[in-house]
Amino acid sequence: MNSKIVLRRCVACQKLIDRRQLLRVIRDHKDGIVLNEGMGRSAYVCLQETCLNEAIRRKRLQKALRCQITKSVIQELQLRLNSPIDSAAEAR
Ligand SMILES: [Zn+2]
Repeated sequence: MNSKIVLRRCVACQKLIDRRQLLRVIRDHKDGIVLNEGMGRSAYVCLQETCLNEAIRRKRLQKALRCQITKSVIQELQLRLNSPIDSAAEAR
């Protein structure tokens, strides 16, 4: 259907990557930090441990979103990294 590729920049490696291959972290105006779905300022990070670790270590997400990232959000991100999403993503 919609085959347009939207590129977003990873906060860790600074590469432009297809949005579907990135983790999206949103600072929602009412729910605070949410993942993948939400309205507000967004930051993106590759679905790679190296990039996620780099983003956490250098507080890239905090800087991009201008707020604190709690441990539970980081754990949620790491969880998503470890769970296979390929099967769902390929079923287009
Ligand atoms: Zn990256």
